[in-house]
Amino acid sequence: MRLCAELGQPSYRAGQIWRWLYHHYAENFSAMKNIPGQLRADLDKRFSVGSFPAVKEQTESGAGSTSKFLLKLPDEECVEIVFIPAKGKTTLCVSSQVGCKYKCAFCASGMGGFKRNLSTGEIVGEVLFAARRLGAAPAHVVFMGMGEPFDNYDNVLKAVRIINDAEGLSVGARKITLSTCGIIPGIKRLVDEKLQVELSVSLHASDGALRSKLMPVNKIYPLADLLAACRQYAEQTGRIITFEYTLIKNVNDSKAQAEQLARLLGKIHSRVNLLLLSPVAEFAGTTPSPETAKMFVDVLDRARINATVRVSKGGNINAACGQLRRRTFTENL
Ligand code: SF4
Repeated sequence: MRLCAELGQPSYRAGQIWRWLYHHYAENFSAMKNIPGQLRADLDKRFSVGSFPAVKEQTESGAGSTSKFLLKLPDEECVEIVFIPAKGKTTLCVSSQVGCKYKCAFCASGMGGFKRNLSTGEIVGEVLFAARRLGAAPAHVVFMGMGEPFDNYDNVLKAVRIINDAEGLSVGARKITLSTCGIIPGIKRLVDEKLQVELSVSLHASDGALRSKLMPVNKIYPLADLLAACRQYAEQTGRIITFEYTLIKNVNDSKAQAEQLARLLGKIHSRVNLLLLSPVAEFAGTTPSPETAKMFVDVLDRARINATVRVSKGGNINAACGQLRRRTFTENL
């Protein structure tokens, strides 16, 4: 509305433009037919609509399968997003950064280094890309793609509010998941946002020494401090935290490690998602058996911690957790 006033336009134009963007998923200003031509031209000079071409698209075989799209950003950098359909609804996994600083040992996103944060417009643009393809906003949006959302906190939170806006894309807050490798200041800030979004925290180890090896971020935000922050978050917001734990054969998948995890999480209002490692070429770890995952679930169950083994989808097209990686448009795709 401020912009409309600045351009000498009536305030209702703001609503018209908003609807073109978030109801009709317009890809450019010239598509906004009920907006005067001069205003469209002015907008075009000053802004761009989040519309990024897919330079590569891969879909697993079979009906209702996971698809991965490589989107080209204006500076020739690319981000990967993933569509995960289930029961007639689609979960969209979005990226928050080009690359990642945190270099978790088993994650391809960190291996290519960090390039830059995505802008709010670019993050919303990922969701708009999905909305155009699907003909409707995705049912769930998870920030589990490339990058650490809390390392790009302001842009991510602004994007979350736009994605959640009831007059816009209207993805329910509880259908939006922010996933962090354990950035404590981000967890603390989120308490004050008064948003009903889901928080997911990656642990991947039940002791600090191993966690530091798998996730170097643990040297900055140690496990004990992280769990204290999580406990405080759960108490202050009344919301349940999801802990992600990727099982790696003979690394973090023993019964003793499961019992230690149960002791650590016992007092936190939480659930645990267990994932079987999705292999990446640069990491020597291997995937444990389903029996090992079941043993882990049983140990947590006995400690009254809700745990499930999450089926990681998209492994055949390198679209599963930890398999998204930084690429530029100019490299051989
Ligand atoms: S797991 Fe997340 S935080 Fe760790 S390197 Fe990958 S994208 Fe970054």
